[in-house]
Amino acid sequence: MKALCWQGKHEISVKTVNDPRILNPHDAIIRVTQAAICGSDLHLYNGYIPTMEKGDVMGHETMGEIVEVGPKVKNRKVGEKIVIPFDIACGSCSFCKQDEFSFCDNTNPNTALANTLYDHGGSALFGYSHLYGGYAGGQAEYIRVPFVDTNSLAIPAGVPDEKVLFLSDIFPTGFMAAENANIKRGDTVAIWGAGPVGLMAIKSAFLLGAERVISIDHYSGRLKMARDAGAHVVNFEDIHGILDEINYLTGGKGPDSCIDAVGLEAHGSTVTAVLDRAKTTVGIGTDRPDALRQAIQACKKGGYVSVPGVYGGLLDNLPFGAAFGKGLNFKMGQTHTQKYMKPLLDRILADEIDPSFVITHRIKIEDGPQAYKSFNEKKDDFVKVVIQMN
Ligand SMILES: [Zn+2]
Ligand SMILES: [Zn+2]
Repeated sequence: MKALCWQGKHEISVKTVNDPRILNPHDAIIRVTQAAICGSDLHLYNGYIPTMEKGDVMGHETMGEIVEVGPKVKNRKVGEKIVIPFDIACGSCSFCKQDEFSFCDNTNPNTALANTLYDHGGSALFGYSHLYGGYAGGQAEYIRVPFVDTNSLAIPAGVPDEKVLFLSDIFPTGFMAAENANIKRGDTVAIWGAGPVGLMAIKSAFLLGAERVISIDHYSGRLKMARDAGAHVVNFEDIHGILDEINYLTGGKGPDSCIDAVGLEAHGSTVTAVLDRAKTTVGIGTDRPDALRQAIQACKKGGYVSVPGVYGGLLDNLPFGAAFGKGLNFKMGQTHTQKYMKPLLDRILADEIDPSFVITHRIKIEDGPQAYKSFNEKKDDFVKVVIQMN
């Protein structure tokens, strides 16, 4: 089969690789119909995530049709159309039983490094390095899905793929971020980052009752989409100080909750942002957490800081005194995608939201290598790339 394979930093190629096979009785093989490129795939492309190997198949936002099931699969059958969550869960460990699927204890065979970094590593992920289990991803013609009874959502016939594809990651991720922000009716929510997750968080914040959403970014194309989604937008390059601006917009009180949908590769020209860039460049820093610093600093007393943006290591110059002084609440982490897929499908079918609004590019797999390059260079125009496999 054809697949988009990681060949090294800044190098993705279309390769012919072996078709996946059933390896475990709970597996299924899926013929992929659509796959998307995620902003977090760029962390792999840019070489930020260790343990990638030449030839690894990329992709964790995938859907398709079941073509084969293992003998112990109970709830799925050949011919069904499914969406596949990006995290891989067993469905039966103590965490999975509490719907904390991204904490699954059983699916990652390579937890040694994660345990060294975090003491307790999380679940495996599709197409996301050997640190996260080394499972082949979905930017390919076929994919093997382990524990398919847990790691799939059946899609009713007649629903267009594009409307449901993002149940694999960014819609549940944006929604869980909004839920983690404890939004109540009438709240003001500030969201750093107007990429796909930030845009989904804007829509989700409104679904959960927010009265006003402030979206902060510096790419004009993304800010236009945020404005179209109903947010008040702030381009941080056009103003003197982001904290002054947010205080002005909230009558000096600060937002009820702040969502950091940027993560470890924040841009910006504050003193701390410049320091982060210098440290990560010479290898004495792991993360560039300037969006998180601003979110903590901006938030109202007793407010909520929700972090769907990905962080990897040790963060410095975080204003923890401000967090303590204001009694802030923090929630974060990988999305428990399996928990959200069905209720969010119901919202799509009820026409409350159509997540396909984020799509800016539709390509064939042959155009994948160029799409990665362009997505990485021209973030302004590239919000979401969908690979159409058929
Ligand atoms: Zn993703
Ligand atoms: Zn589990």
